[in-house]
Parts: sequence; structure tokens; C-alpha cells
Amino acid sequence: MYFKDLNNSKTIGANSLFISIGSFNIVVDAGMDPKLAGLKALPNFDQLEKFSLDLVLITHCHLDHIGSLPILLRDQPQARILLSPPSRLILPIMLDNAITVMKHQRDERGIKEYPLYGKTEISSLEEFFLEMPNGRTKVFKKLNDEIRITFVHDGHICGASGVLIEHRHRKIFFSGDVLFRDQITLPGALWPKEKLDVLVMETTRGNTKRRENHSIQQEINGLISRINATIEKGGSVLIPSFALGRMQEVLSILNDARKKKQLIKNVRIVCSGLGLTLVDVFDKISKKYGLINFKKSILKDLNVKPLLKIEYLHPGKKPAESTIFVVSSGMMTENTPSYNIAACLLNDSNNSICFVGYCDKDTPGGKLLASTKGHSFLFDTLNRSIEINAHVEHFDLSGHAERDELLQHAIDFNPRAIVLTHGENVSREWFFDELLDRSPNTKIVDPEIGIEYNI
Ligand SMILES: [Zn+2]
Ligand SMILES: [Zn+2]
Repeated sequence: MYFKDLNNSKTIGANSLFISIGSFNIVVDAGMDPKLAGLKALPNFDQLEKFSLDLVLITHCHLDHIGSLPILLRDQPQARILLSPPSRLILPIMLDNAITVMKHQRDERGIKEYPLYGKTEISSLEEFFLEMPNGRTKVFKKLNDEIRITFVHDGHICGASGVLIEHRHRKIFFSGDVLFRDQITLPGALWPKEKLDVLVMETTRGNTKRRENHSIQQEINGLISRINATIEKGGSVLIPSFALGRMQEVLSILNDARKKKQLIKNVRIVCSGLGLTLVDVFDKISKKYGLINFKKSILKDLNVKPLLKIEYLHPGKKPAESTIFVVSSGMMTENTPSYNIAACLLNDSNNSICFVGYCDKDTPGGKLLASTKGHSFLFDTLNRSIEINAHVEHFDLSGHAERDELLQHAIDFNPRAIVLTHGENVSREWFFDELLDRSPNTKIVDPEIGIEYNI
């Protein structure tokens, strides 16, 4: 099998991997780098020029995995897009929203090439889709060759799948973004237990040590106590959350705490637009496929209100009423609701900012977590520097597997080769060193940009 990582940076970046196996040319994911703007945010699709793709496999619908899909299909209109049934419903909404965000960025930051695609292109993707329900193997034939593909439940978010490819007795497994523990909204990953030839795995949390005596319940209790203490003081809480997955999980955590009478009463809860749109889709998926534990009645139970622009127009200005803001983005990316709300809350010691997911160190969220109270924090795109007086804390409710757990799975597969993807350099290095030590017969590949490998 030949493969090439099309991601232009050795970070989480724009996920996209090309593999050529037998007669088949396949791309796994077609993402967009959330930390870059314009054409730089795309994978290096130029490297596919001489190939005709047969299949594009989509592991899940976060933009770092699907943001460049319409561009890939522009040059490869013969390729079929394989995705889980929930992803088929979620994907057009995520890409539609990406267009809106790109248009804002064009107007506000002068990125002329934005948007990189239009709504018609998104709706025309529908004709290329082929649904892959979890656990159901499909066989694809080409010339005298055939390949078997199976999607498996991956935890992480609704619709997320790992992908197993079988070709002439060889088994290659793509981890996608994976979470093994159960969430309230979704059971943990159900990975195959078999010997693999090649494992292509994410490494997101390679640089995050397991906390001693830590349990998810303790993290949840800590978050609820922090919310209650903040609201009692008359302050507000910001929970930056990815609109897809984390936001619905946070709402479920709040609703659980409300039912157990652990959450302070009558508190105002506000969510941002895309997260609310996805609540409807999750409700539909739950009714149609029963894959997730989520009902849209949660919005009524918690009396959730949509975020209004007026709430974040004036950085430094206190909200009119104590509020829990569950708004995107999870890493407090510039110009998103969480970035703007943080600018309103950060200078008041009565407020709290509670991160609940993975935060890249180079994003505003990662920078804020690394900052010290009393120092000032620059909101670059708002042109404002604000003193950090609010309580800032990270609660470990990440949608990615803990590194030790993922490492153990990798070792158990006992593959001939492991390819590291989807992680900062330092995270890849941790996995590289541990695997070298504990799986000495396995070839470990941390792919260099633009290099083709034969494994
Ligand atoms: Zn993801
Ligand atoms: Zn990802």
C-alpha cells in the first residue's frame, strides 16, 4: 500500500490522507485547517493530479475532516463519498455554516478567495454519497480487484466512524477521531478486536497526561460546582464548545444535573446558532437510527435561548443577567461567539470561563489557558487588551481518547505498521517513543509533508 499525508502541516490541521492499494485510489477525509485562512487552510490536493480517485471516506463531520470536500470533488467527480448515515445528515449543515463563516472572514479580514465554494456545490455532493451503516461490510470491485470496507462506531461525536479496509487478506484500520468512554449522548467506540496489518491513528492527546485519581464524574461535578458558585455571585459562565457534539453533550450534562437538583435553579442558558440547528438534526438521528441518546426537548427543559448579537457587541460590558453561555467555538477561535463573549466576561472576577474540550496551544483558548490571572489578554481581532480577572479553568471532558488507552489499543492490534496522524508534533513524539519501546516489531511512521510511503 502506498500512502501520502495530504495535510500541509504536522499538526491536527487539514486532515486528508491518500492511499493507493491494489487498483484502488482512496482519500480518507478532506478537511480544512482551523488555524489557517484562505487557500493555505486546504490539504495539498495538487498531489492527486495524476490519480483518479475511486473512493473518499469520511470519518466524521468536524471541519478539520470535511471542510475541503467540495474542492476535492471538483477535480475528482467520479469518486464516491462513503459516510455514515448520521454524517450524511450533518455534513451539508456543517459546510453551509462554513460558507457563512468564510463570507464573514472575507468581509472582516479581506480574505478575497473566500468563500471557497458555494451552496450549489454542497447540494450537488448528495449524488456522490454512499451510506455506510456501522458494522455492515460493502465490497467494491474494479478490474479484477476487490476491496471490502467496514465503518465502525467511533464514540467522539454523532456519526463518527473508524474505517476498516480489507484487501487480499490485508487489514488496514483508520482510527478517525476516537473516544472509548461513554458520553451521555453517545456510547464509546466499538473497535474490532483483530490483528491488523496497518493502523492509521490519531494522536490528539499525546501531550496530555492522565490526571491522577481523575474520573469523568469528578470533572462534571467540578464544572457544575463552578457554574453554581459563579451564578450565586451574580456572575456569568462561558463554556466554549464545538457546535457539533460537545455543545449537545454539555447541554445533556446540565440537564442531568438539573434533574438531580444539582444545578442552580432558573439560570439563563444561551446557545449559539449552529449548535441549535444541530440539536434538531440530532433529534432526527436519534428517532431514525437510535444511535444517540438525545432529544430536542432538552432545549425546553433547560429553557435554552439563542445567542443574540447584542450580547457581545461591547467587549468588557457585563451581561444584563447572569447567564451560562454554551457557545462555539470550543477553542475560542477569533471572531466566534465564544471569543466575543470571553471579551465581555474576562475582566470581572465574578465570571468564569470553563473549557471542556481539546484546546490547541496556538488558539486563543489555548493561549488563555496558559495565561496568568491579573495579566492582560489580547483579543487581536477586536483590538482590545483585557485584564484576566475571571476564573479560567479546563475541565477534562474531551471527545478524544486518553493517550494511554489509545496506546494500549494500538499495541493490542499488533500491526505490522502504525501511521501517526492528527496531532501536534509533541503529541506524535510521545506516541512514537512509547510505541518504539512497547511494540518493537512494529514499524512506526510519522509521515513527513509531501513524502510518499510504501508500507
Ligand atoms: Zn473531530
Ligand atoms: Zn479532528
